[in-house]
Amino acid sequence: MKKLWNNKNTKDIFAFCEDYKDFLSNNKTERECVISIREMAKKAGYQDLKELIEKGAKIKTGDKVYASNLDKCIFLFHIGKRPISDGLRILGAHIDSPRLDLKPNPLYENSATNIVLFDTHYYGGIKKYQWTALPLALHGVVCKKDGSTVKVNIGEKDGDPVFCISDLLPHLDRDLSKSAENKIIGENLNVIIGGMPVSGDNKEAVKAGIIKLLKSMNIEEEDFISAEIEVVPAGKARDMGLDRSFVLGYGQDDRICAYTSLKAMLEIEKPEYTLAGMFVDKEEVGSQGASGMQSLFFEDMIAEISVLMGENSHLSVRRALRNSFMLSSDVTAGYDPNYEGAFDKNNDAFLGKGISFNKYTGSRGKSGANDASPEYIAKLRKILDEKDINYQLTEMGKIDQGGGGTIAYITANYGMNVIDCGCPLLNMHAPWEISSKSDIYEAYKCYKEFLSGII
Ligand code: MN
Ligand code: MN
Repeated sequence: MKKLWNNKNTKDIFAFCEDYKDFLSNNKTERECVISIREMAKKAGYQDLKELIEKGAKIKTGDKVYASNLDKCIFLFHIGKRPISDGLRILGAHIDSPRLDLKPNPLYENSATNIVLFDTHYYGGIKKYQWTALPLALHGVVCKKDGSTVKVNIGEKDGDPVFCISDLLPHLDRDLSKSAENKIIGENLNVIIGGMPVSGDNKEAVKAGIIKLLKSMNIEEEDFISAEIEVVPAGKARDMGLDRSFVLGYGQDDRICAYTSLKAMLEIEKPEYTLAGMFVDKEEVGSQGASGMQSLFFEDMIAEISVLMGENSHLSVRRALRNSFMLSSDVTAGYDPNYEGAFDKNNDAFLGKGISFNKYTGSRGKSGANDASPEYIAKLRKILDEKDINYQLTEMGKIDQGGGGTIAYITANYGMNVIDCGCPLLNMHAPWEISSKSDIYEAYKCYKEFLSGII
């Protein structure tokens, strides 16, 4: 039976969540996450697999390696005592989050108002009205023709300017035929960038001023065609509630599982099976692309490792994948006291009642779902119960209310055992998402037991 706040040591939970909040605050894009994860891994003794391949180095039990692709996804491997063909123990989280991206030609001046704006194209499932009237920051990279990259991070430091998408005042918003969501269309999610002319009332004098400022940052207007700038909520993740039992932060889907998986991964010593931590991109848009889970990159890295371990057969890679057990570490919907009608109280996840396992996700009769085997769930129950870890077996909302998915169905294609397993959130995909500190700690404990326990 699930208990509320199973944890005895609130001090440990709160301390763990201080570091978690820092991770959230400092890593608001997939690129920023890859850089941080790589640095943390290097400190823990992980080596660059690419360099080992180039040197033709040998990989053996106890070695730790990482492989990143396009600086937007990263995989960590910790080689176990058993042959890799015996299978891996895998934690798979994603590090992309819903946001607004700048369009390739974003900069324009509105002629009626002389306000300069950035045109955006949203990424992932957002409720568009939630992105207006709140402080926003710009994060990303501008890649120059000379091969250099300008890093952009404006709106986070004290004293930085922030940005905003305007919303219509309630006084003039009487279009009763439209819902809140339909009043804001994607094409109108334009970020206000400036309003001061450089000289007099010349045509587009405000835009000219912004272009001058961009030049001072080594960015030409045409450089935006080879840039990735993400518009995200400005500001730090914070404690929420008088008792500080919650975290309010941007991008907790799925950096809450990425962080807890990473911490677990870095702390395990001398694993029996080879461990893998996946931190992938593009989950919010279907996992396609070279940095998404559907890419062959992960499989290729297993093949590279196998060769450097002297297991030079195609079949050992297939066996490694097929014999693996994985937790697809991703968030689920928490039962929301303000929207009880969307949930089934016997089968949905509650904040504070531990890490949540979804046997299946999908929508409309489980369509698109990975369906974890009960044999696997029984093995997990044994480990979790023995270690007194708080967990709940859940669904995501009422039947036909909607649905969702993770990367579970993709890795299940290899024939491995995989189940969705992560923290419940309130207002998932909103600019600021809510998690329970207790669940964050239970997730970390669960991931550690999964990696070190023998399934
Ligand atoms: Mn997710
Ligand atoms: Mn999501």
